[in-house]
Amino acid sequence: MPELPEVETVRRRLEPVLVGRRFVGVEIRDPRLVRPFEPAEVAAELDGERVVGLGRRGKYLIVRLESGRSLLIHLRMTGSLRHAPRGSLADDPHTRAVVNLEDGSDVVYRDVRRFGTWLLLEPLELDPYLAERLGAEPLERAFTPARLAAALAGRRAPLKAALLDQRTLAGMGNIYVDEALWRARLHPLLPAGEVVDDAVLHALTRAIKGALRAGIARQGATLRDYAQPDGTRGRMQHEFKVYGRDGEPCERCGTPIGKIRVAGRGTWFCPVCQPRPESVGGRAA
Ligand SMILES: [Zn+2]
Repeated sequence: MPELPEVETVRRRLEPVLVGRRFVGVEIRDPRLVRPFEPAEVAAELDGERVVGLGRRGKYLIVRLESGRSLLIHLRMTGSLRHAPRGSLADDPHTRAVVNLEDGSDVVYRDVRRFGTWLLLEPLELDPYLAERLGAEPLERAFTPARLAAALAGRRAPLKAALLDQRTLAGMGNIYVDEALWRARLHPLLPAGEVVDDAVLHALTRAIKGALRAGIARQGATLRDYAQPDGTRGRMQHEFKVYGRDGEPCERCGTPIGKIRVAGRGTWFCPVCQPRPESVGGRAA
C-alpha cells in the first residue's frame, strides 16, 4: 500500500502537469470510488474546474480547485494515478476514473482492489476533515522529539501499532514503520508509552524522518501495484533494511532478520539490534 513517500512522489510528478490546467471531461466509472455520492454528480461538479494546487497530508493527495473546493484522493491498497497523452493508455477493467485535461492529456485512476476513495470537499470542510483523522506531519519542521513524546505518552499499545495509527503520525504504514524502528534500534513490541528517554525520542524522530526521506529519494517502493504517474517503478524496495527480508543478514550486525506479527501485520526486525524489552517478556527474539 502506498505510504507517505509513494504519495509524495506521485504529488511531485503530477504537480507540474496538473496545476493551472482545467478539467474538460471527467468520467467516474466505479460508484465505490465516490460513495455515498453519485458518480455522475461528482463528475459534473469536477468538470470545468481548474487545479490551483496539489498538496499532500499523510497519505492523502489534495487537489485544490479554483472554486475553493478540494478533491481528496486516497490510494488505499492498490490505487494508482497515471498521466499520459489522451488515448495512449490501454483501457483496462481496473480503470475507475478518467480526467481529461485541457492540454490533451489524461489523468487515469486505476485500482484493482477498489478501496481507494475520491472525496470532493467544500472550502471549509477540508481542514476539519483532515484534523480529525491525522496527527503530525513527520517531515515538517514542527515534528520534533517533544511532539513525538506527546503523541506516544501514556499509550500501552506496541510502538509499531502506535506509529501505524494515522492519528499519532500521518503517513507511516507497514514498510516505513519497520524501517524506522530498525534505524532507531527499537523493538516493535516496546510499549509506546515507555519511549520517554530524550536520546531515544531523538533517535526515533531522526529514524522516522530518515526512513521517509530515503523512500522519497528513491521515488517510493514498488512491491506490486504502485508506480509513478509515468508508469515507472520506485526503487526503494531494493534498499529495505528489514522489510520483507526474514532470514537475510542484518546490514549492521549480520544476524538473520526475524519476523513476527504485531497489530495483525507482518513485522520484520533485527533480534540483536532491536532487543526485546524486558517489560514485554518472552524469548529474546
Ligand atoms: Zn542487527
